[in-house]
Amino acid sequence: MTDVTPTDATASSVAATASAAYRSALQVIGAVEPRVADAIGAELADQRASLKLIASENYASPAVLLTMGNWLSDKYAEGTVGHRFYAGCQNVDTVEALAAEHARELFGAPHAYVQPHSGIDANLVAFWAVLASRVEAPALEKAGVRHVNELTDADWAALRRQLGDQRMLGMSLDAGGHLTHGFRPNISGKMFEQSSYGTDPGSGLLDYDAVRERAREFRPLILMAGYSAYPRRVDFARMREIADEVGATLVVDMAHFAGLVAGKVFAGDFDPVPHAHVVTTTTHKSLRGPRGGMVLAQPEFADAVDRGCPMVLGGPLPHVMAAKAVAFAEARQPAFAGYAQRIVDNAVSLAEGLTRRGATLVTGGTDNHIVLVDVSGFGLTGRQAESALLDAGIVTNRNAVPADPNGAWYTSGIRLGTPALTTRGFGADEFDRTAELIVDVLSSTTPTATRDGSPSKAKYATADGLADRTRDAAAEVLDRHPLYPGLEL
Ligand code: PLP
Repeated sequence: MTDVTPTDATASSVAATASAAYRSALQVIGAVEPRVADAIGAELADQRASLKLIASENYASPAVLLTMGNWLSDKYAEGTVGHRFYAGCQNVDTVEALAAEHARELFGAPHAYVQPHSGIDANLVAFWAVLASRVEAPALEKAGVRHVNELTDADWAALRRQLGDQRMLGMSLDAGGHLTHGFRPNISGKMFEQSSYGTDPGSGLLDYDAVRERAREFRPLILMAGYSAYPRRVDFARMREIADEVGATLVVDMAHFAGLVAGKVFAGDFDPVPHAHVVTTTTHKSLRGPRGGMVLAQPEFADAVDRGCPMVLGGPLPHVMAAKAVAFAEARQPAFAGYAQRIVDNAVSLAEGLTRRGATLVTGGTDNHIVLVDVSGFGLTGRQAESALLDAGIVTNRNAVPADPNGAWYTSGIRLGTPALTTRGFGADEFDRTAELIVDVLSSTTPTATRDGSPSKAKYATADGLADRTRDAAAEVLDRHPLYPGLEL
């Protein structure tokens, strides 16, 4: 795990100290509920022994992890720095202010709100902030009042109807968008009338002219950009032009690629921060922090964003805000830019290794941290591919491909990501070997027949001994790059 701390020398001494800390912590936990202590230990063992290719996961540093296990967790701190609804928040003020300052510096953002508990929460905060600034505030001004509680019942009813009558345009789910971008199973789909833009059916790439055309017809309040499963960069300068042309607010969800923005791999037109009105993110994916969310905003949205709690959030999680401060401090180290570049270089190596061995990739490759494999060429569904790979110690997740005939449950794809194994120290050769192991498994797996003789979408058979052989081969690569070296548990 070469990328977590600034130098290898400090890495091993930090790990040795952390070993003692974790051993003591597990003893304390085990004295109350040993099964939880065992599960924590087993999770580390599992993560050490598998090729983790889940695109949304990473390995946080011992400093980030340890920052979350302490008494900051016990404090209530509704409000914002220096303006709390609870007494005794001076230490929470310190960590929240530090996290926000690091975030502003790291991303060059005018404003950072670090309270969201997750990416979904960050999006909700952003959506309400846009509604508050663009719909509610003008309505209050028109009615000549300062607060919604001063509205007459009739004016309030009219405003609620107006708030519920707004539109959002986001990337379709099968093109790689996220549920929170206005889709029905999520609250965003109930708040907004939604429409989607997809990708070009031939190239699989985002077609900006088609986005513009759809935006002109649909006239959304919010133009959403960002994705969970699109393996390419997005030109946010062009998205902003489209938003401006139709009077929309550009919200970018950079949950997946925040680490690439922090590491300046996505710069200029591909850095969302200078182009979007509001940017949301998780902090635990490529950014390698604690599980959590964050909103970055242009000044006109800052006050509304800061009202996230109590609008849609409960009290902030001070221990997690503290861990965000630590993670952002790590990401501001020069080494993080190298890490971010390696994430992309490694994704390219993985993509090339897969293609060379006959796999079909959505868009033909990648220029971010994601590789989306269409496994129908192997005669498999995504579900079968995911399960067969998991048996062999390769952890991925199934994912729909554009216009997926197998729908969102079985799918025809698997999504691979490089942030975690890059943290572990994998380079181009290790990712090429990983590609080889993946193709070995997929090409030796076949669907089993259902009772009526048609191929099952879930069940499968693999060549004898394949899973064990692959695990052994993976172990050879993993052993060269131990996870948390020096951390003995
Ligand atoms: N936004 C995007 C683009 C995501 O990919 C995800 C999670 O996968 C989220 C938001 C939600 O993040 P969380 O799970 O922290 O709520």
